[in-house]
Amino acid sequence: MQLKQDFFEQLEGFYSQVYPLPISQPHWLVWSDDAAALIGLTKPTDELLMQMSGNHQMPGASYYAQVYSGHQFGGYSPRLGDGRSIILGEAFNGQDAHPQAWDIALKGAGPTPYSRHGDGRAVMRSAVREFLASEALAALSVPTTRALAVIGSDLPVWRESQETAAITVRLAKSHIRFGHFEYFCHSEQGSKDKLIQLLNFTIAQHYPHLSQDYHGYKAWFTQVVKDTAVLIGHWQAVGFAHGVLNTDNMSVLGDSFDFGPFAFLDTFKEDFICNHSDPEGRYAFGQQPGIGLWNLQRLAQALTPVIESDDLVAALNTYQAELVKQYLLLMRAKMGLSITEQIANSAEQDKQDLDLIGRFCGVMQHNMLDYTNTFRAFGNLDVNSAKSNIADEIIDRPTFDAWYKDYQQRVGQVTDIEAWQGARNSVNPKYILRNYLAQEAIVAAEDGDNGKLVELHRLLTQPYAEQEHMSHYAQRPPQWGQGLIMSCSS
Ligand code: AMP
Ligand code: MG
Ligand code: MG
Repeated sequence: MQLKQDFFEQLEGFYSQVYPLPISQPHWLVWSDDAAALIGLTKPTDELLMQMSGNHQMPGASYYAQVYSGHQFGGYSPRLGDGRSIILGEAFNGQDAHPQAWDIALKGAGPTPYSRHGDGRAVMRSAVREFLASEALAALSVPTTRALAVIGSDLPVWRESQETAAITVRLAKSHIRFGHFEYFCHSEQGSKDKLIQLLNFTIAQHYPHLSQDYHGYKAWFTQVVKDTAVLIGHWQAVGFAHGVLNTDNMSVLGDSFDFGPFAFLDTFKEDFICNHSDPEGRYAFGQQPGIGLWNLQRLAQALTPVIESDDLVAALNTYQAELVKQYLLLMRAKMGLSITEQIANSAEQDKQDLDLIGRFCGVMQHNMLDYTNTFRAFGNLDVNSAKSNIADEIIDRPTFDAWYKDYQQRVGQVTDIEAWQGARNSVNPKYILRNYLAQEAIVAAEDGDNGKLVELHRLLTQPYAEQEHMSHYAQRPPQWGQGLIMSCSS
């Protein structure tokens, strides 16, 4: 692993230098080999443990917390910043010819100038949830930040009751959020020059094919609109609710970012709310597409000193079509709706397929079906037969039967049914990070046994594989685990 310090060296005034506070009895709770490989690490060593727990200094690290602001639940918070996350620099795999750099952040490393009244710590359950969400989404090919490890400790922290502190070692291609631009637009510390400095840095680091001029800024914002639309298209297709889509939790790169009370859907419910602090459902599952646009509008507003409003609006106007395009691409694959060139270019076919998908979602909601398991059943479906195995749990037969007829007609006669079913299994996961599974792993880890956590993580790195003897992990939640709503206290 090698470290560089581009953000730290080039963006003075965009962060505060701050060092982690040591924690007692640090120990690895879980480690991701896949994430480690991204930055050229192989094993969780004792020295890395001391460095990443904040107990030893890491050679070449800079230690800083970034400043930003953001819209939280619709209202503007003029100054946020990393209140409990300290960035060490940008790590890369020195063996690769063109390595991707990843910020290493120690989330939960102690107070920073942005902690306000917080303690700068993260409790173990929230550190574990961030780790599992990152690595599960990555395995599902959903754009996301990554997590290298969770480090536990015996440091007590107080939330509703006493818990212990932990650190998630987060890897992100960038920590630049929508809120960074909002801060340098709206605050007294901001200015047009600072906005341009941030834009130029972002483009140089992450969009090297774009120019650092008006033309490039416009193209960059259009790309952010697209990447955000693609991200939310992924979430809607895989059944993921983020839970806290404030603009300070939106990565400009379109990665899933900052995991709190998120949930993967169990029972399909369009207006499913996973966040205890969101009774009105601002961030409900079905609201995410609209919220993505709302957040992009806030980013656009922050860019008005640099980019003409007409150009910003033109970019925003591409959002819906990009999101639908991504959603359709993924849902057609999940359901086996073929995409010929003719279909790909037909607005009428898009409309019909969206209708077919929407009707099926209606069936799932009405019959309270499990989102993941229902799609996984397409891998056993003899779609040439008039009798469907998806229908076993369906109470409202007539609606389903009418839908299934139309669906069969759209799919047509399938000659190689095994290949067709295999293709479904390669895109419809068998295993997802259900809240109750995370909860079981956390409770065991709080009791000193991280075995379940390690096993669950390993399982989720191969979500499409059958993984014999693991089928119990594919079960719908037991009574106690249904509709678990997570609090923001983390
Ligand atoms: P979040 O809801 O996790 O996105 O956090 C929103 C803001 O609160 C961010 O600026 C965090 O850094 C800050 N924050 C959350 N928890 C803590 C904590 N325990 N100590 C200090 N700051 C925190
Ligand atoms: Mg956040
Ligand atoms: Mg956070």
